[in-house]
Amino acid sequence: MENSKEMRTWLDDMGLDHPLVIAGPCSAETEEQVLRIAHELKDTDVNYYRAGIWKPRTRPGMFEGVGAIGLNWLKKVKEETGLKTATEVANKAHVDLALENDVDLLWIGARSTVSPFIMQEIADALKGTDKIVLVKNPVNPDLALWLGGIERLHTAGIKNLGAIHRGFSTYEKTKYRNIPEWQLAIEFQNKFPDLPLINDPSHITGKRDMIFDVSQTALDLNFDGLMIETHFDPDNAWSDAAQQVTPAKLVQIMRDLRIRKETDSEAEYNAKLSNLRAQIDILDNQLIDTMGKRMKVSDGIGELKKQKNVAVLQSNRWNQILGAMILEGETRGLSEEFVLKMFKAIHQESINHQEKIVNG
Ligand code: PEP
Ligand code: MN
Repeated sequence: MENSKEMRTWLDDMGLDHPLVIAGPCSAETEEQVLRIAHELKDTDVNYYRAGIWKPRTRPGMFEGVGAIGLNWLKKVKEETGLKTATEVANKAHVDLALENDVDLLWIGARSTVSPFIMQEIADALKGTDKIVLVKNPVNPDLALWLGGIERLHTAGIKNLGAIHRGFSTYEKTKYRNIPEWQLAIEFQNKFPDLPLINDPSHITGKRDMIFDVSQTALDLNFDGLMIETHFDPDNAWSDAAQQVTPAKLVQIMRDLRIRKETDSEAEYNAKLSNLRAQIDILDNQLIDTMGKRMKVSDGIGELKKQKNVAVLQSNRWNQILGAMILEGETRGLSEEFVLKMFKAIHQESINHQEKIVNG
């Protein structure tokens, strides 16, 4: 698949003066719920109204969506509010029903993108459609799998394509529901700069309080739009309650976000600068996170040394680390002087931690 400007046509044709906004509830629950949220979103920046009709749930026995009847409700949304509509499809039956019912935008969920068989089935069912089709990243951080899904759709003649970054699952507990792994999204963008890329801060954060910050980072990284789960009564939503925001909150978020436009060279310079700064911020956060983890491990060593009653400072081990890190640093263009200074500081912090433990 080659990158080409044609990929952006559907988005550029919309002529928006703000990022694309897809909003609406995680799940369609009742006709009243679907219509009420749609009416509350009608005169906002929202371009597409989302609602999950078929819900992929991690464990059985939870609310699995209202099914095909919800498609009638989305039709009513379009008639009553003029909002275009969007839903998730996960197999051929879903695609056929969504197309029959004239849903405007179809997205493929993270649990489907992981399966080449499902992706191929969906691509075959969509063959030649002019609907917009967006592919969420797979649940695991595998760029090739994500691109592969998009390629299958492209090969099936689907022109109006895009991608949604919704983060990746990890075994490790983090402040995110699905860690963003921004560098992967950046790599994706570098490969296909003309493929519209939408951020889904709702599924990345899992918490409504963090949605603004993740959205801002996404815009600083030149994402083309946002998908934000919205419900008039988030706490009582039938799925993903903790991460949904009210329509009023969504309007507030859109108002507060710094939105960058590339109109003249000054703006372009600023956009590039914020993009690079956002990348630096991500890396700095990772550095701090890694240092925190390193000191935790060091604390464990402190405990062991205390039990064995051995000295905190072990010079042989320290010289070994330094030598190895200076060589590693060289291969990454870091000077010996810098690596030495950095590791002396790390070592000192580590000793401070261990001394505290050994001396009670
Ligand atoms: C959703 O958008 O409601 C959804 C199920 O998302 P994901 O596929 O990202 O988990
Ligand atoms: Mn959801």
